[in-house]
Amino acid sequence: MQLFENLINVLFPKVCAGCNSYLLSNENVICTVCRHEIPLTNHYLNPENEAFKKFYGKIPLKFASTLVYYHKKGIVQEMIHSLKYRGHEEIGTVLGQWKAEDLKTLSISSDFDEIIPVPLHEKRLRERGYNQVTQFGLALSENLKINYNPNLLYRNIYSKTQVKKNLLKRSEVIGNLFEVSFTEKDHNKHFLLIDDVLTTGSTLEACSRELLKIPGAKISIVCMAMSHS
Ligand SMILES: [Zn+2]
Repeated sequence: MQLFENLINVLFPKVCAGCNSYLLSNENVICTVCRHEIPLTNHYLNPENEAFKKFYGKIPLKFASTLVYYHKKGIVQEMIHSLKYRGHEEIGTVLGQWKAEDLKTLSISSDFDEIIPVPLHEKRLRERGYNQVTQFGLALSENLKINYNPNLLYRNIYSKTQVKKNLLKRSEVIGNLFEVSFTEKDHNKHFLLIDDVLTTGSTLEACSRELLKIPGAKISIVCMAMSHS
């Protein structure tokens, strides 16, 4: 079996998601060099960290954190690109496993009831075939023993007539991009909302506003990466 695996590796060598160099047999998804060079935020121990501060005065969060920094032309950009556009879902799994190790050290993680992914646009989902945050969420779910729920929050699908009707109220349309469908069993839960890259935070803010319509809801946010502002 090992011989067969080695043969497969020779015929179809796996490459690093960060630098595209060939991976050694003991390396998984990311090479050792990239693992050391990847810009970790290491801010999760600080409750008032820069990810959390992005939401100041916008939505009441319990906690926010991202695993790494996103730089243009860097390792992380290459990884996120491979994850989103080249079908490399295993990158999400690795990042989720890393982030789970951080979160395990925090007492707040025992308060999370459910992991909620930012829903992907229906059209994108059809083109791509997967939501790029799914594997990240499933890895967090498995390692932290928290339920993964992709059905609570969804993207609004507007019919053409509805869009026309709302054209004059563009801000209203944007404000209602997401919707929650909940019952009483979803009340009083602490939701861990997850996404790939935190930039302005407006998508996560819109999602949080919807989740906060659930009575007693508490929100925390975890993303793979964040851009420096
Ligand atoms: Zn590499």
